[in-house]
Amino acid sequence: MFNNLSEKLDKALHVLKGHGSITEVNVAETLKEVRRALLDADVNFKIAKEFTNRVKEKALGQNVLTSLQPGQLMVKLVKDELTELMGGDVEGLNLTGTPSIILMSGLQGSGKTTFSGKLANYLKNKKTKKPLLVACDVYRPAAVDQLHVVGDQIKVEVFSDKGNTDPVAIAQAGIAHAKANGHNVVIIDTAGRLAVDEAMMTEISNIHKAIQPQETLFVVDSMTGQDAVNTAKAFNDVLNFDGVILTKLDGDTRGGAAISIKSVVNKPIKFIGTGEKMEAIDVFYPSRMADRILGMGDVVSLVERAQEQFDEEEARKLQKKIAKNQFGFDDFLKQIQQIKKMGNMKDLIGMIPGAGKMMKNIDIDDDAFKGIEAIIHSMTPQERTNPSIINASRKKRIGKGSGTSVQEVNQLLKQFNQMSKMMKMMQGGGGKRMMNAMKN
Ligand code: GDP
Repeated sequence: MFNNLSEKLDKALHVLKGHGSITEVNVAETLKEVRRALLDADVNFKIAKEFTNRVKEKALGQNVLTSLQPGQLMVKLVKDELTELMGGDVEGLNLTGTPSIILMSGLQGSGKTTFSGKLANYLKNKKTKKPLLVACDVYRPAAVDQLHVVGDQIKVEVFSDKGNTDPVAIAQAGIAHAKANGHNVVIIDTAGRLAVDEAMMTEISNIHKAIQPQETLFVVDSMTGQDAVNTAKAFNDVLNFDGVILTKLDGDTRGGAAISIKSVVNKPIKFIGTGEKMEAIDVFYPSRMADRILGMGDVVSLVERAQEQFDEEEARKLQKKIAKNQFGFDDFLKQIQQIKKMGNMKDLIGMIPGAGKMMKNIDIDDDAFKGIEAIIHSMTPQERTNPSIINASRKKRIGKGSGTSVQEVNQLLKQFNQMSKMMKMMQGGGGKRMMNAMKN
């Protein structure tokens, strides 16, 4: 996420870190580089200029020049300003209605349908919410089918009316259906076009007026940079929406949209989409995002994601197994699946402070576990519980079956063996013994 921008800002701020003495000249030089980095990230010129002016004002006001650690103070000032620009505080959804109605708007391909599913899933997992998805795209039957596929996947009901050509009527019928069937949230997915046009605006505006949603969300593809900002403006003029959803932040996004959009439409970014999977949704925290942009990682979000996937019951079972020395490859597979649910690897690594920078040139395969999983799947159930019975000819077969080499099979078995030993030692409270084992 935002690799290029992070790298350039880091370089710009490094100028100051390296210098023993700070002068007005090198503060100006640094900020010039910061501005260039922002412009390269497709941040609007005016916004970038105001940004650096404000940082400069604060820097001079706070006596960066005489501060003991001016480099760090500058990083802090830039971070605070980035946070402010992206929205300051976090703003949640207004879910006060009975049912609460959420209307999705945005261009075709922005990720509306995918996000509708993600949001339904997110709310459903909150336990107190029973969402209903409503398909209001009357032009593309495929879009309606897509929402049904999403609904099936996350086990959320989808309301649609395929022959009906009136999106307002469908939305209203959807809400009535929700009321009659105990749904307390209705998420309405609408039709988009490839570009802003009058017919689309009239249609979404009519739906908006008729159903009076508590939340109107504008979904935008962050890869589209300044275009994203212009589209946001057009939709906001008509809908006066409540929040922005930035999708596709997992891609090679330059960052311009995330940084500029709030100050142009004066509406908060509420969620971000970070992948195609239903779990790839995050609440948008301006301050955490600023940390990530400045390469400081985002440990809080990382821990939260881990917690979301954490199953206490499973953890207890696992602990018992480890204590009894019964941790097998099936348990290992489960662990891998949990990690995978947390998001794509590159994204996760980017959340570890400093790691994003270190790993930036290393291509991390999102299917990093594929080989390991294939090897485990090629083992018999007995072999998975007791890998020591795997002999040389079985290793060959497993290699063949999984499309890997005997060496790879051996390596996995060896690592698994080491891991099991270490787990046993940790269980025995032998921290010292573990350290010794690691040394050997
Ligand atoms: P809609 O036309 O606005 O409903 O857009 P869709 O929901 O159909 O999304 C368009 C494409 O973008 C699909 O291929 C989605 O899988 C993909 N997509 C949506 N959100 C994300 C995201 O956060 N990250 C990535 N990488 N792809 C996404």
